[in-house]
Amino acid sequence: MIIHPVKQFPVPGNSIIKLSYPSLSFSELMMRATVDFTLLVGHLKSGGIWIDNGKNGNTDEMAAISLKILQALGKRFTGAVYVACPSCGRSQFDVIEKLKKVKTVTSHLKGLKIAVMGCVVNGIGEMSDADYGFVGAGQGKVNIYRAGKLVVKNIPEKEAVNELVSLIKKSNDWKA
Ligand code: SF4
Repeated sequence: MIIHPVKQFPVPGNSIIKLSYPSLSFSELMMRATVDFTLLVGHLKSGGIWIDNGKNGNTDEMAAISLKILQALGKRFTGAVYVACPSCGRSQFDVIEKLKKVKTVTSHLKGLKIAVMGCVVNGIGEMSDADYGFVGAGQGKVNIYRAGKLVVKNIPEKEAVNELVSLIKKSNDWKA
């Protein structure tokens, strides 16, 4: 069942909420849809949403955005989930660059939560619910955590992403 969310509340359990954005650019649509579905999160019961761009209907691009929004809202997981600090003067590496590298090799690991934190000072507490943590331990060094426990210490930054993958594999959380 597809309904218009504003006209018909409460939403039946099997409904897909459809929102239409006929005249927005791609980036505007992404922002608007993310905000709108976040506001509607209490009504998302089925794990399905429909974003209509008014041009080609529900294209692959729209479907991909829908899945990302559902994952961000914790409604349906189709890949790994990431937590990262905003970085600051204490960062021991370029957090954005490292996050990109970690994402490149782990994004297919459905439901796994991976944290990338710039330092151990606040990073450990902020990643407490992550399955794996990739944390700056000193200039050019990284510590890797599993379920909040330090597992591999002071790895050279260049080897750290491979080391993270290796730990995920050893822990049987890796899927090809
Ligand atoms: S985790 Fe460390 S590097 Fe990241 S923002 Fe917090 S204090 Fe800064």
